[in-house]
Amino acid sequence: MNDIVKKYVIYNSVRYGKIDVNSVMGKIIAENPEVKKDIKSLIKKINEAIKETSKLTLEEKNKFLENYSFEKKEEKRDLELPNVKGKVVMRFAPNPNGPIHIGHSRQAVLNSYFCNKYNGNFILRFDDTDSRTKIPMKEAYKWIEDDIKWLRIKIKKVARQSSRFDVYYKYAEELIKKNNAYVCTCKNFKELVDKKKECPCRKLNPDENLKRWKLMFSKYKDGEAVLRIKTDINHNNPAVREWPAFRIIEKGEHPFVKARVWPLLNFASPIDDHEFGITHIIRGIDLIISDERQGYIYKYLNFGKYPNTTYTGKLLFKDLKSTSEIKKLINEGIIKGWDDLSLGTIMTLRRRGFKAEAIKNFIMSMGLNRNEVHVDMGILESFNKDIIDKESNRYFVVFNPKKIKIENAPELKIKVPLHPEFERGFRNFNTKNEFYVQDDIEKGKLYRFMHLFNFKDNKYVNKELDKNAKLIHWLPVSSDLIDIEVLMNDNSVRKGLGEKDLGKVKLNQIVQFERSFFCKLEKKSKDKLTFVYTHR
Ligand SMILES: [Zn+2]
Repeated sequence: MNDIVKKYVIYNSVRYGKIDVNSVMGKIIAENPEVKKDIKSLIKKINEAIKETSKLTLEEKNKFLENYSFEKKEEKRDLELPNVKGKVVMRFAPNPNGPIHIGHSRQAVLNSYFCNKYNGNFILRFDDTDSRTKIPMKEAYKWIEDDIKWLRIKIKKVARQSSRFDVYYKYAEELIKKNNAYVCTCKNFKELVDKKKECPCRKLNPDENLKRWKLMFSKYKDGEAVLRIKTDINHNNPAVREWPAFRIIEKGEHPFVKARVWPLLNFASPIDDHEFGITHIIRGIDLIISDERQGYIYKYLNFGKYPNTTYTGKLLFKDLKSTSEIKKLINEGIIKGWDDLSLGTIMTLRRRGFKAEAIKNFIMSMGLNRNEVHVDMGILESFNKDIIDKESNRYFVVFNPKKIKIENAPELKIKVPLHPEFERGFRNFNTKNEFYVQDDIEKGKLYRFMHLFNFKDNKYVNKELDKNAKLIHWLPVSSDLIDIEVLMNDNSVRKGLGEKDLGKVKLNQIVQFERSFFCKLEKKSKDKLTFVYTHR
C-alpha cells in the first residue's frame, strides 16, 4: 500500500510540478478501492509520502518511477476555454527562424484542440519581424506549415507579419496622432524610467512626434530612435513602462522584406489579434507581461476587450536543444540538418516514425496548467508504441552476429507469424545446424531459439516450450540474409544481419526487430537496408 501511495505522490510531483492530495487520492482509490474504508489514514499516508518525497532530487524521483507503468489514457482530460461566446478564433504564432520542435508543438496542438472542440478557426501566423537576432529562414515557413498539416491540424488561414508592415505603420501614426506614442531618442531612457520619470520626448506634441517618426525612415540610425507606447509611468513593473513598439534596423536580414523600421512583437501581435478576430490566446506563463503591454494597444485603439488568455506552465525537457542552438550546430557542421536523429524537432520525430496522434496524445496528457512540467520523452515513446505496436511486423535482425553450430539440430522448415497477435501472414525459415546469434552463449545454461527449439552447450535439447530457457533470437546461416544498418538517435550506427523477408519491407514502413526495437526503413540500396531508430 505504501508503495502505491509513494508512486502517485512522486508521479504527481514530477509530472505536474506540485502534488494535489485529492488527485493522488483519486488515483489510489481507483487502483485499490478498499482503501475508501479508511480515508483518514489514507490522507495521513499521503501526507507522510509528500514529506518524504520533498527530500528527493528529480533524478531520484525519476529513478523510482522507472519501476512503474502508468495508465496513460485516464489522463486525457476534457479541457475547456473560458468565456466562449460565438465563433472561437485562435492562432499559433511561431517565429520561422527554424522548424518547430516538440516544445513548440504544444501550443499548436492545444490551439487546434480547442478549435476542433468549439468548431472554431485555427490561424497559423508567422511572427517574423525580428531581422537581427532570431532571423527568419525562408525554408522554415514551408517546413512549419507542413509539420502543422502533418499533425492533422486544420489551418483556416496562414498569415505572415512581414507582409503587413503597412498596417502596422498606419496604426503607429494613429497612435502618435492620438498622443499615445512618441519617438524617443534618449540615451539615458532606462535610467529615467527606472525612477518612474518621463523622458523629454514624452512631452513633445503629436506633430513633432510625427516629424520624428518620418525621420526614423530616413535620418535616424540604428539605435538612435524608437517609437514608444505611453503607459502608466508609475506602473509597478518596469518592463511595462513605456515599452518600445518599433525600432530601426538598417541592415536587417529577412527573406521577404527590406525595411528600416521594424515593429516589435508586442506591437504587431495585438494589431493582428484584433484584425483577425482572435477570441482566445494560449500563451506561456513567461509571457504574462505581454498581456499588460498589449492591453494598452487594445485600449488606445478602441479594439474592445483583449482576447481571453490562458497560460501554460513551462515544459522542462531534458536535453532538448533550442532553435538557435541547433542552428549553431548545423553551421559548425556538427550535425547535418534539422532532422538530425538526435534532435527533438517534429521533422526528426517524423523521420524516426513517431505518429501525429501519439504527439497529440502526449501533449494533451500534460493538460493545461501553470505549473512547470518535467517532460519525460519516455511517455511520448509509450504513446507512440500504443499505435505502432499493432501496425509493425516483426523480423529477426542479429547485431554483431556470432556464428554457432548446434549439434543434432533437426533440419526444419518453419513459419513464424509477422505479428504475435494479428493474423498478417508469416515469415519462412529453413534451418540446418548453423545459426547467427547476438547474445553471448553461456556454458551450462538452457536457451530457447524463439519459435524453434531449446539447446544447451551447443547441443539440441527439444522443441517443447520451457519456462526456464532463456529466450533468444537467431538467424539461420544462409546466403540470402540481408545486411542491415540502423541509424540510432545518438547518431551511432548499428550493423547487423537481417532475415531475407526484410527485403519485402517498403520504404518508410515501421517494423520491430524482435527483442531489440522499432525502426523505420529509410533507404534501400543494392547491398543493404538502412533503418532509423524509433524507440524500444
Ligand atoms: Zn526620450
